[in-house]
Amino acid sequence: MEVISSISELRSKLDPIWRVRKTIGIVPTMGALHAGHMRLIEEARKYSDCVVVSIFVNPIQFDRKEDFERYPQTLDQDSRLCEAAGVDFIFSPNAAELYPQEQLAFVDVPALTEFLCGEFRPGHFRGVATVVAKLFNIVQPHQAYFGEKDAQQLAVIRRMVSDLNMPLTIVPVATVRESDGLALSSRNKHLNEEQRKTAPLLYQALSKAAEVLQSGERSSEKVQKQIEPMFQGSQEIRLEYFEIVDPETMRPVKDITSSVLIAGAMWVGATRLIDNLLWKETAAN
Ligand code: AMP
Repeated sequence: MEVISSISELRSKLDPIWRVRKTIGIVPTMGALHAGHMRLIEEARKYSDCVVVSIFVNPIQFDRKEDFERYPQTLDQDSRLCEAAGVDFIFSPNAAELYPQEQLAFVDVPALTEFLCGEFRPGHFRGVATVVAKLFNIVQPHQAYFGEKDAQQLAVIRRMVSDLNMPLTIVPVATVRESDGLALSSRNKHLNEEQRKTAPLLYQALSKAAEVLQSGERSSEKVQKQIEPMFQGSQEIRLEYFEIVDPETMRPVKDITSSVLIAGAMWVGATRLIDNLLWKETAAN
């Protein structure tokens, strides 16, 4: 495995791989790798001949300076994990390599980012879509692997790829969770012991909402009414949103007639956590 920080060097290494018609898979990350990222890498290892993991804490997607500044950076450990997982290249550019001049061109998918995280993190998805487009242009992958944990991000990337005719396949990967349901996230490192104990609440609320739907309730408002009290027990917890949306348009659904995405964001102290569950209408319901 090689760790490469320069665009031109990465391109010169990937060129021969392209020429012999081997497939290249990219796993875009911000580092501080955990078992969720490793699942993406495992999938990439299965389906792509050459696996590139990008590690870049992308400044233009952060809406809060303190979140950017305290984002965990663990490149040595990440390298060891990637090497053991059979990654071929880590691409870890610095900000000047990816943004050598003021960025004037952006990719934006506004219709998918009006609600959920998009509503609370202005500019976030524009920053994500722009950096992912840059990574796709640099690496020219055949496949790119994204976690369903960031469902709105996945929807934005899929739409960007489709609308802009980008020649690659987006592969979604299911969310990896701790045994108590908490979705793995690099930001979980910020939780103290007490906060870690309350953090699974978000997943519990999503599961409860799915149960309520399963029992036949079809009004989103009524589901939300049953969920809200769950977040009122602790001073440390603040619910940012809890929505039932269409899995493709990411817009709230009032009366549920087909599959929906139940998605939430919750603050635990100064740490923001997100999670979601896809609820599928089945014949038995
Ligand atoms: P991040 O480093 O947080 O930007 O995440 C990089 C990729 O890993 C994104 O596609 C995320 O959706 C994915 N990811 C993060 N956490 C998880 C998880 N718990 N399970 C599956 N994928 C994840």
